[in-house]
Amino acid sequence: MTRPPYRLYLLYHELRPSRSEYSYVVETDQFEKQVDLFLELRKRHPPGLFPEITFDDGHVSNFEFALPILQSRAIKAWFFITTGWTGQRPGYMGWQELRELQQAGQQIGAHGWSHALLTHCDPAQLHKELVEARLTLEDKLGVPVTGMSLPGGRSNQRVLDACREAGYTKVFTSVPKPEPQPTGTTIGRLNIRGDMTLEWIAKLFEPESGVLSSLKRQHHIKATAKTLLGDRLYEKLWALLNQQEPDTNDGEAATHEDPAHHQ
Ligand SMILES: [Zn+2]
Repeated sequence: MTRPPYRLYLLYHELRPSRSEYSYVVETDQFEKQVDLFLELRKRHPPGLFPEITFDDGHVSNFEFALPILQSRAIKAWFFITTGWTGQRPGYMGWQELRELQQAGQQIGAHGWSHALLTHCDPAQLHKELVEARLTLEDKLGVPVTGMSLPGGRSNQRVLDACREAGYTKVFTSVPKPEPQPTGTTIGRLNIRGDMTLEWIAKLFEPESGVLSSLKRQHHIKATAKTLLGDRLYEKLWALLNQQEPDTNDGEAATHEDPAHHQ
């Protein structure tokens, strides 16, 4: 199932120079070690699961800390930007930083206008979150924007149809699974948290370790919990468990049974 040329897309948010209690923050040194691991994995013969890097939200640490590490190793990543936060919300990139990212050869995608969960949006809100977000990025950066990452990973058929109608050809989710090449229109990703060790991340790329397939099973259980609890209650629970604002949650709720602690 994970025979080449499958790829595993990883999802990052914020980097910080020191360890953070927030599960979505990855320490810069750890990120650098992970990128070096990915470089090694990409060179493997015979090739295995190929790592790809993505960032959601447009945090300024993407520019300050991640970009130099990626550039020094000639690695391209996707950066999904919450358009309405650009140059507006403290701690997030402005247009100059985004232009520099783009000019450095990094790929820019959209992450909605306001980070609203798209499954909760009416048609007018969906237009703002998908169409205006894309057109504004294209206008300010002068490049086509065809990738969209779903805030909170939330989607249903109506949202996926709206993404397609808004001109997106690739929609990035938070479902952890290997993706064939070329990819389909939806692309799953695995959320990397600050407490995941390098050894555990390395095991993700060894199909025989069973780590990735176990994560896929957990995702299925969480998706079922979301359906049973409803999005809003699930969000509150997630925020409680992760000491994080609910509106920046793009991945999966961590639980105390997290596999990263048991490796
Ligand atoms: Zn997000």
